[in-house]
Amino acid sequence: MKIPKDHPRAESLCVRELITEGMHQNIVAEAGLIAHGRGEAFDYLLGEKTPSFAIEQQTAAVALMLIAENPVISVNGNVASLCPDKIVELADILASKLEVNLFYRRVERSAIVTRKLEESGAENVLGNEEEFYTSIDELSHSRRVVDKRGIHIADVVLVPLEDGDRTMALRKIGKRVITIDLNPLSRTSIWSNISIVNNVTRAVPEMINIASELKNKSKDELRKIVESFDNFKLLKESLTFITSRLTKLAEGELKQPKIE
Ligand code: ATP
Ligand code: MG
Repeated sequence: MKIPKDHPRAESLCVRELITEGMHQNIVAEAGLIAHGRGEAFDYLLGEKTPSFAIEQQTAAVALMLIAENPVISVNGNVASLCPDKIVELADILASKLEVNLFYRRVERSAIVTRKLEESGAENVLGNEEEFYTSIDELSHSRRVVDKRGIHIADVVLVPLEDGDRTMALRKIGKRVITIDLNPLSRTSIWSNISIVNNVTRAVPEMINIASELKNKSKDELRKIVESFDNFKLLKESLTFITSRLTKLAEGELKQPKIE
């Protein structure tokens, strides 16, 4: 579908196009469309811009990835459709492994998502070779599969758009978990060590810029950033941000546009 450039919501429509196209290519699961819609609703509440608290969350996340022994970025179908080039670039600058990890796991889908990442420049995508499969016992059936070379041995895992159950399970097996989720109330956000309340399409490119700055800092400086970060303080700040934005709109800033 061709989206007219002057459409007032052209950007959002282009992103929808990426997701629906991803579904037709079997990269995105049907439920991925619903997850996307929930994300869009929360993004409307944020004002569809990166708020300052998210920069703080992203900075702490990058610092933690840079001091990790074995960082892994877990990729699902939505992320592979929305920002494949940027997620590969982020993994590269953070010296992180990339692992395909799907909620609705099917061998063929896993291979398609892997190919998408490879087309975007990824060289060694994990999560797709049966001989390296192992499982997280805290989870049921297909959702428990992880790669022995990746999430299984990782100390820090970045999971954009993860499900709450898996975030909890990763915490229970001792991983430090960073998530990107527009919903500050989701179990995912509440269970992570660092929750980034932002759209993955803005957060990932911004994290690349932050990483190129933080890469020059010493491990001690990075450790200080991580240690002074308080996840719940920032999650609460995200709620205050949304409520005060809505209050301002409710008390007068929301006006009917003039017809010209
Ligand atoms: P949880 O399982 O964590 O309790 P949930 O069941 O409500 O959350 P899921 O469907 O498991 O939600 O996960 C989808 C999440 O991804 C939603 O919380 C949604 O806000 C978020 N999301 C969707 N699209 C984006 C996006 N582009 N950027 C950031 N977050 C997104
Ligand atoms: Mg869920």
